[in-house]
Amino acid sequence: MADRVAVVGAGQMGNGIAHTFALSGFPVTLIDVSVEALARARSTIGANLDRQVKKGAIEAGAKDPTLARIADATDISAAQDAALVIEAASEDPDLKFRLFSALDDVVGPQAILATNTSSISITSIAGRTRRPQRVIGMHFMNPVPMMALVEIIRGLATSDATTATVTAIAKQIGKTPVEVNDYPGFVSNRILMPMINEAAYCVMEGVATPEAIDTVMKLGMNHPLGPLALADLIGLDTCVAILDVLQRGLGDPKYRACPLLRKYVAAGWLGRKTRRGFYTYE
Ligand code: NAD
Repeated sequence: MADRVAVVGAGQMGNGIAHTFALSGFPVTLIDVSVEALARARSTIGANLDRQVKKGAIEAGAKDPTLARIADATDISAAQDAALVIEAASEDPDLKFRLFSALDDVVGPQAILATNTSSISITSIAGRTRRPQRVIGMHFMNPVPMMALVEIIRGLATSDATTATVTAIAKQIGKTPVEVNDYPGFVSNRILMPMINEAAYCVMEGVATPEAIDTVMKLGMNHPLGPLALADLIGLDTCVAILDVLQRGLGDPKYRACPLLRKYVAAGWLGRKTRRGFYTYE
């Protein structure tokens, strides 16, 4: 039987990560401080499995065994028998530092601790543990069951053995791992966020409407989703937070968040999750 995987945080990303591992036959312990989040995650995973069955991506008989492989818990002590922990809790540095320091005490000495952070330094998270060589970034994309990429981020002390293990596991669950080093925004957000930011400047300066900008990028560059629709999906607050990390970490004013993005966030227009961002959602 495959080694147990613990997923810490059962939100948008955590439920997708648990879904993907369980579907590939891994026993999963899904941990969240919120009982409601765990219940929501289970029903989301069930609904997403149904969708995969409907599309013919998986057999109907795969649903129940997949759900049965996921155990819920509200305390990180439940991660004790995991060979791999993937942390997907909220994007808050202090929270992640506390979690990794505690996980280091909970899991066995050989266990690997991975984080799904979008922007926090892997090296600084690893520094909160006594096993920095066994700490790594596993940056899944949203929605996890659909998206092929896992950005594998090596912290300064991450060992070759840890990188090789995590790369092999990513392939085992059907993903395409790409190895990168630990710099602000890694590769994905270092390149994506300046594009989204530039699109926001185009709106602010009246270069074109959001619809026109997204159409140019979809039809002209073959992007499946325009940058402003994507920003609404990611969350405009998250976009600003990542741009702040890029600007602070790289010290270059070219990463400063567009004032219009900040204004939308101040107004509570965070994108799809608040039904209003660059677009409105009913
Ligand atoms: P989310 O808000 O949907 O979920 C976060 C979950 O963490 C919540 O259910 C919350 O209850 C839980 N949590 C908070 N403190 C906890 C603790 N101490 N122990 C256990 N659980 C705790 O957030 P999300 O969008 O799933 O993002 C999770 C992580 O994934 C973040 O680091 C984020 O940057 C990263 N990420 C997000 C996306 C995306 O598109 N949303 C993409 C890639 C990476």
